[in-house]
Amino acid sequence: MADTDTASDNIYDLFRSRFPADRSRPFVETDDGRVVTYGDLDTLVGRYARLLSDLGLKKGDRVAVQVEKSVENIVLYLATVRAGGVFLPLNPAYTKAEVEYFLTDAEPHVFVAKPETAEGLRETADKAKVAHLLTLGTKGDGTLPERAAGLDPDFATVLASADDLAAILYTSGTTGRSKGAMMSHRNLSSNALTLHQYWGFQPNDVLLHALPIFHTHGLFVATNCMLLNGTSMLFLSKFDADQVLKLMPRATVMMGVPTFYTRLLAHPGLTKEATAHMRLFISGSAPLLADTHKEFSARTGHAILERYGMTETGMLTSNPLNGDRIPGTVGFPLPEVSVRVVDPETGRELGTDEIGIIEVKGPNVFSGYWRMPEKTRQEIKPDGFFITGDVGKIDARGYVHIVGRAKDLIISGGFNVYPKEVETVIDGIDGVVESAVVGVPHPDFGEAVTAVVLRKPGVIAPDEAAVIAVCKQQLANFKVPKRVFFVDELPRNTMGKVQKNLLRDAHKDLFTGAKAP
Ligand code: AMP
Repeated sequence: MADTDTASDNIYDLFRSRFPADRSRPFVETDDGRVVTYGDLDTLVGRYARLLSDLGLKKGDRVAVQVEKSVENIVLYLATVRAGGVFLPLNPAYTKAEVEYFLTDAEPHVFVAKPETAEGLRETADKAKVAHLLTLGTKGDGTLPERAAGLDPDFATVLASADDLAAILYTSGTTGRSKGAMMSHRNLSSNALTLHQYWGFQPNDVLLHALPIFHTHGLFVATNCMLLNGTSMLFLSKFDADQVLKLMPRATVMMGVPTFYTRLLAHPGLTKEATAHMRLFISGSAPLLADTHKEFSARTGHAILERYGMTETGMLTSNPLNGDRIPGTVGFPLPEVSVRVVDPETGRELGTDEIGIIEVKGPNVFSGYWRMPEKTRQEIKPDGFFITGDVGKIDARGYVHIVGRAKDLIISGGFNVYPKEVETVIDGIDGVVESAVVGVPHPDFGEAVTAVVLRKPGVIAPDEAAVIAVCKQQLANFKVPKRVFFVDELPRNTMGKVQKNLLRDAHKDLFTGAKAP
């Protein structure tokens, strides 16, 4: 690969070329008031990269990281790619058994853990033949910063070709084993450059960053855009509506999962005045309810810009910066990204408004699943299109709509039911906040449509019979839920996605006679 190596394909060089000339400008301000300038960032990245290289990290070696959100965590990401390594962030909530799977699968050269969990993970790391176990806390503490302190920050960025790996992100693995999506320098840089331009980043933009950074949204979408913009982030360890509203007058852009927006709407401090300084609110990682979009618009005058992406592909579509941001849609394919909808049976490309599987191709699409060539071949077609597994359609104006996940498709009595269609009807009932529709085993129908509904507190809310009656008026009989359950909260993962597998599990014996939930 050496003959294709050029200095400029390492994404760190790209970021560095965009750092402000005045290196005393802030890169990050944390919730405890610490300011890290671009000068500090470059020095820290140089030192960490030097340490990794002194530890024997070679090009393509993995650096697995299971730590809490911190500036040093971002420094470690940048230092890893600068040193030619492959950054592998893990959700800090993963258990020891889960970490063991990731370490054994990825065989990292270095593993960085939280100071409080490192000892408990030492045996696991040894078993996976990790050469170095280091620690990193949230206050710049731990053996990693200690050992990097005082090292020479002048580090020559390792040459990388655009196809070299920069990161491996494990998918959330709701079905089967979690797979490592291999992201090249090109995958990351092409997507960041596209988003930076598409969302019209400005020289004075300040990003309110309340997302986790072990996931593509907080790490690549949010952080990479700001590194390209050379401006600063207000960096919160986690989302907190009070704190977000307090900082909003100093920010111009926020990226969030839908839950951020519903929590802000539940806060009396969300007003036109509170958001007057903001240029852009972006939402993604899970569907934003059309109602949330409308309520947010009415309260603040801002139309949330919804976009769609996934771990394996980075961002794929976005509502426009200038133009209609249509609630319930995820907008247009991004420049250089091709999106098509195909019939799952025949693979034929479908026409306007026809529902099928969304497939995507472009420089953003990952290089394959780590050590799973068979899975890679199943999911990236010979013509380069990746099968997203999302079910959707493209309307006459070119807006992409997501109807659900292929694995969530319900087949009841031989008929296909797209949960989103039923959820939209239920969500439209007065007194309903939102709903999740799943298929549960049924002796006659194969699967039975079952709805789980969250009602608004303090209003006259519909009961099961009322929900079924409304569905009967608006939907074909086979789509009408056989049963409706009410909950106080829908189960969600950290990225705000409803965990339908948990709902299916909770109700799996409902119709098979074993026992009621
Ligand atoms: P992840 O790999 O964790 O980022 O999850 C990717 C999946 O999240 C996609 O395949 C979609 O199913 C879902 N997703 C992401 N953004 C949106 C969105 N704006 N609307 C609906 N679903 C979304």
